[in-house]
Parts: sequence; C-alpha cells; structure tokens
Amino acid sequence: MRGIGTFEVRHKDLLGRIGSLETKSGSLKTPHMFPVVNPSVQPVSPREIKEIGFDALMVNAYILKKAFREEVLRKGIHEFLSFDGIVATDSGAYQALVYGKVEVSPEEIVKFQEAVGTDMGVILDVPTGYEEDRGRAKWTVEETLRRAELSLKVLDRMDVLWMGPIQGGIHLDLVKLCAEEMGKKPFHVYAIGSPTQIMENYLFDKLVDMILTAKMNLPLNKPLHLFGAGHPFMFALAVACGCDLFDSAAYAIFARKGKYLTEGGTFSLEELEYFPCSCEVCSSYSPKEVRSFEKLKREGLLARHNLSVCLEEIKRVKQAIVDGRLWELLEAKARAHPSLLSALRKLSEYKLFLEKHSPTIKKKGVFFFGSEGLSRPEIVRHKIRLKENYAKPKGSEVLVLLPAPKEKPFHKSPEVVKILAGVGREPRVHLCFYATPFGLVPMELSDVYPLSQTEAAPLDKESLEASMKEASAFILKQKYPKVLLIRPIDENFSALERMCVKNCVKAGSELKVLRAKDAWGERTLKRVVKAIEGLIASAPSGNRLPTGAREKREE
Ligand SMILES: [Zn+2]
Repeated sequence: MRGIGTFEVRHKDLLGRIGSLETKSGSLKTPHMFPVVNPSVQPVSPREIKEIGFDALMVNAYILKKAFREEVLRKGIHEFLSFDGIVATDSGAYQALVYGKVEVSPEEIVKFQEAVGTDMGVILDVPTGYEEDRGRAKWTVEETLRRAELSLKVLDRMDVLWMGPIQGGIHLDLVKLCAEEMGKKPFHVYAIGSPTQIMENYLFDKLVDMILTAKMNLPLNKPLHLFGAGHPFMFALAVACGCDLFDSAAYAIFARKGKYLTEGGTFSLEELEYFPCSCEVCSSYSPKEVRSFEKLKREGLLARHNLSVCLEEIKRVKQAIVDGRLWELLEAKARAHPSLLSALRKLSEYKLFLEKHSPTIKKKGVFFFGSEGLSRPEIVRHKIRLKENYAKPKGSEVLVLLPAPKEKPFHKSPEVVKILAGVGREPRVHLCFYATPFGLVPMELSDVYPLSQTEAAPLDKESLEASMKEASAFILKQKYPKVLLIRPIDENFSALERMCVKNCVKAGSELKVLRAKDAWGERTLKRVVKAIEGLIASAPSGNRLPTGAREKREE
C-alpha cells in the first residue's frame, strides 16, 4: 500500500478528478460522498450503507463524545458502528454554528478523534455563518487558523488524515486569506467550511465563488472536501469546481420529511405516482405502497433510495470525467434548476483557471449548446493560442474569411476544395473560417482537436457575436494587406462586416466584401475565386511568377 495520505489522480476534466486517497482502512476512491450517520437516530444502518455501495461514511465526533463516549472509546469507532470501511469524523463545528457553542475544546475533540481510531478527522473550526458581517467573519477565519495550529500541535497518531477547514463565507478576500494560510499547514485534505446555508438557499453562483477562491489559493495536489453537500443535483458542479469529497446527512433529513431525491431535484413522496428510479427500493415498491407504511419503515426506504441516487450520480460524474464530458453534464444540470444555470454562467469568471488545469486532449469531441459553452476550456484555449502563439503562414497576403462550411474538417469540405482548386493553392491566399464556437479557424488548423470534433447547436446571438469579434480581431492582429470577407446577407452578419471594416482601417488592410444569399452556393464559389484572383493581381508582391500549382491549373 502507498503511504497514508497519498492522493493519486487517474483522470481529470475541468477541475474534477478521479483519484484515490490512502487511509489506514483502505483506499478512498474519489469523488466520494460520505453519508453522515447519527447513531442516535439512523434510518439506515452503517452496514446497509456499505451494502448500497458506500465504502466510507462520516460521523460526528462531538455527538459521539457526548452520548456514547465510553462505548466508542472501548470498542473503537469501526466496531462501534459495525462498519469495516473508512470512517471520517466531524468535529462539532457545525453544531456550534447552529446552537451557538459546543462544550468541548479544540484540543479535546482532536484527541478524542485519535483515541477512537478515526481514519480522517476534522479540527474544531469556527464556521462563518452566511449572514455574518465582515468583522465577525474575519474573526472566524483568524480563530479557525489559530485552532488549526493548536490542534496540529497535540496530534500523536501518524495514521490519521486531518482536514483543514477554509472559512470566510461569502467574503472572498477572507476565503483567499484563509486558504493561503491553511494551505501552508500540513493537512492531508482541505475543506470548504461553511457552505450549508448558501446551498440551502440555492445560491450556487456564490458557492462557485467560494470553492474557486479557495481552490485557487490551496495546494492543488491535495483533495478538497465540501462540507454539507448532499443533493445529487449539484455534485457535478462541485466536482467540476475541484471538490473531491462531500459529506451530508441530506439523504436521511430529506427522508424524514418525506422527500425523494433525484439527480435533477427533489420530489415529495406525496406527489409521486411513479418512482423515476430502479434502485432496490423503487423496483420493489410503488409510491403508494411506501406511503402506506409506518413512519420508520417509510423513512428507511426513502433514505435508502436517496443514498442510491447519490451514488448513481457520483458514478455519472465519474464517467463524464473519463469521457471528458463534464462540461456537457454541467450544461444538462443547468437545465434542472435556474440556480445551476447561474452557477454555470459564473464559471465564465474563472475560465482561465479552468483552462489552465483541464486536459488538452480528450477522447471525445465537444458539444456546444449555447453561449455558456464559450467559457469551456477547449474554446478558451483555442482563443488564447490564436491570440498569443499564432502567426499566419509565411507569404500570405490575402486573408479570405469564409463562414464555416457544413462538412468537417473544413479544409476537406467539397466547397473549400473547389475554392482551393480554383485559385490553384496560391500560397499568398490564406483561407480562414469564422465559426461558432471557436471564433476563427485558420484552414491549416481545421483538423486539430477539437476544432473538427465539435458539434454546435444553431447559433444564439451571444455566441455568434463572440465569434464575430474573434474573427475581426484576427484581422487586426495578423495584418494582411488584403482581406476578402464572404458573408451571408442575413442581417445577423452585418455586425461582422462593420467590425471587419473598422479593423481593416486600423490595420491598414484593403477590404473587399462579398454578400451572398447562399454563402456556399455554386455561384458564390465562382465569385469568390474571381474576387481572390483580383486581389492577388493587385497584391503587394504583384504579378510575380505563378506558382507550380497555378501553372498546372492553367495548362
Ligand atoms: Zn430509487
């Protein structure tokens, strides 16, 4: 076995990762949700939780200490819970947030966690409440950091992993400060400390801010935990933002309230005619039958279903990471609830960070659904490369800007082949395509991943405008003596023409515009070839000797 605390990543997409974290009770496969169990009121036993497929759970050390201290100390936490998987313990900090204070010191609670043999522990931090003002929030950060220092000093066992919580709440400068400082301390896992109220209020855009601010200021080689995330409909978002672990009692709390979780939202058992699920519970009973059971049985069944659906969603997220389709999954989720769409849009503010840490080559192409997709790493990366590293082919003098042909890769589409044959593969002519979502695609790159592996839905205005902006900016950057723009007469493309006019003036390029009803029609192609010939004839290099290819055509 590798060393305890080792975190190995096998697959990545966006900031999401599939990895394994070594604990003294085995490898914890991530992403993972720890079901939180409460030994006093537990609708599903730890053993059943394991049978459903969870190898690791979490229990509150503060509650254990208060209610079962002697027994847990005597048996050890695994035997006490009758659970032979990985056990993580929380510290009671959340209870302090809810009830005002807890009757235990930071040192006592970490020593207790060590004594009962936990696999992963949490220090007693001070959560920043959602509505706390900056002054109080600052104190929670300072106090959490102080307690982290204090706790690390009293630890004895080398085989327990410790989580360092990041506080600061919605005050992002404090989150940053806390992450920077906590990141310097030797924790095995870092954790976003106080998102519960934000999640309960569906403020997922704020959650994105919190997670990413922490993520950007923490060591990236350590796992990141998100406290209290237990609704499957936001797992994809949290994982995409870089969370590897969650814990939640939501499966049980919702069950107690008669709520049925799905990957897309929550239903009340009362309103269900059918169970949209095939887990053991849902394939054994109808909603009507479950409603007829006495409370405890009903709760147990709902909790078991809720756990199954959480596990299923984690598997779905994992498969999306393997496929490089996590963004597509986020887009699908964004249609489950408007707050998730806000969160997806929020990601645009972090698109450079996402781009930097997302894999460059993937197994599958890109599905582009709409303007939110403009922030995805593949598209951002293409634009950065074009802006920073690209130089037009040597000797090219005439830029021909064409709309995207129907077939991919563009340079092999029959219409493009016709133009190329028509102008005799003239090296002074450079064909480029303005194509959503990438903006501008130089012909010689049209086969490079993912430019020809992208399927785009019919364009929305925002995506079209973004692409046109990229295309016209290219004129300014590359400075061709002559530019030929072929545009559909469709009013939507007038803006492109205006932008090209403006940038050609700035770049000192001569611009010719061809407007066509059918930009790829037979007649247009002939006009394009003729226009290109006219531009070459008057190009700066003048009527120099035709190229070999040109001679061939004229034979
Ligand atoms: Zn089910």
